[in-house]
Amino acid sequence: MSRLDEIEARASAATPGPWSIRTNEKNCLIISSRQTQGWVCVGDPDAAPEAQEDAEFIANAPTDLTDITNTLRAITKIHKRIQYGMEASVKHGWVPEFVCEHCATPDGGGVPWPCETAAALEKLEKS
Ligand SMILES: [Zn+2]
Repeated sequence: MSRLDEIEARASAATPGPWSIRTNEKNCLIISSRQTQGWVCVGDPDAAPEAQEDAEFIANAPTDLTDITNTLRAITKIHKRIQYGMEASVKHGWVPEFVCEHCATPDGGGVPWPCETAAALEKLEKS
């Protein structure tokens, strides 16, 4: 399972967002979901001002992660490895090369595989 698969699995298993943020009677920032009725106290914003940013981060994580993983999957689909010059390589005894289908140049040339985008995505897939 790739890192991206793991992130998607955690995001899809969690309660869908958006979650809400409020302060309770004990001055604790609460993150809650209407769906589960559960809540988590992140901290007292008067004692720890970063609690507000933490709460914003956590409350938006379900929708943010879903958007990000969907975008990464879409980018992965368009940066595909293809074999370039197969006919010419057979005819002339060249070693065929792999290029990125999306990053091909207008003259029919290609960017050697993996292109910069595919290389960055591969790091996420393998980590
Ligand atoms: Zn590419």
